[in-house]
Amino acid sequence: MPAKKYTLLVIPEGSHQVRRFALQRSWLGVAAVLGVFFLVGVGLLGFDYYRINLDRGEFGRLKVENRTQQQELRRLTASLEGLRQELMVLAQNDAKVRVLAKLSKPKTDSLTGVGGPPEEDPATEFSALQRQVDEIMQAIDLRRASQEEIHGILNDERSLLGAKPKGWPTKGWMTSGFGMRKSPFTGRPKRHEGLDIAARTGTPVYTTADGIVSRSETAPGYGKLVVVDHGYGFKTFYAHNSKLHVKVGQRVKRGDKIASVGSTGSSIGSHVHYEVRRNNVPLNPKKYL
Ligand SMILES: [Zn+2]
Repeated sequence: MPAKKYTLLVIPEGSHQVRRFALQRSWLGVAAVLGVFFLVGVGLLGFDYYRINLDRGEFGRLKVENRTQQQELRRLTASLEGLRQELMVLAQNDAKVRVLAKLSKPKTDSLTGVGGPPEEDPATEFSALQRQVDEIMQAIDLRRASQEEIHGILNDERSLLGAKPKGWPTKGWMTSGFGMRKSPFTGRPKRHEGLDIAARTGTPVYTTADGIVSRSETAPGYGKLVVVDHGYGFKTFYAHNSKLHVKVGQRVKRGDKIASVGSTGSSIGSHVHYEVRRNNVPLNPKKYL
């Protein structure tokens, strides 16, 4: 059982006087509780102080970072402006090429001349930057579409050039032209839908344009016949051959050997009967030699 009262003796050094304090046990309890409160309070204050100090360091760091980011943003804005200028030059070049290719003007460009120095407020500055990026992306899309269109047209022109019959289908001499003539078989006037070119049997017959072989067979009147489909409505006929050297569906280039001259079908003497048709209407091949 602990005592109710305690006595604290204080004896100063080199003195004979002794001080005596009487301490109640209950006071000690109160003092202990107060002490604990005091310690906790000091601890909390210390922690707060520590945190404030940490925050201050963080704040300084953020300030520096913010400044760096602002500079970065400004640099980015400047390079975007440069990019935009370059795109505008590209757009001008594109417009010139479109004129050459006889294409219509492209849709209005989103690229305006508006640029100017960056805003001071970072928020507006950032949204302005975003808008600029969007504009540039749009302009790039437009350019790409335009380039594809130009490319397509050029390709088309190139294949039209390849599809138009051009030149002689064989080495020989013309014996009968296109148009009305007396049929060598019936003696009655009959439209001659092609051109006859006489040549020795076995002389190579060449296709006069790029295309796909659509017929390679023996046909009444025509004898051994090759028909090449060139697209754009163009077809060429090569008749009376002695031999056929291509198959249906075969892709041929202008100048490819497709047959050998002969005299099959309704023919007197070896020759090539050459027809040029557009949308199945016979044209005068002389205009395509
Ligand atoms: Zn003929």
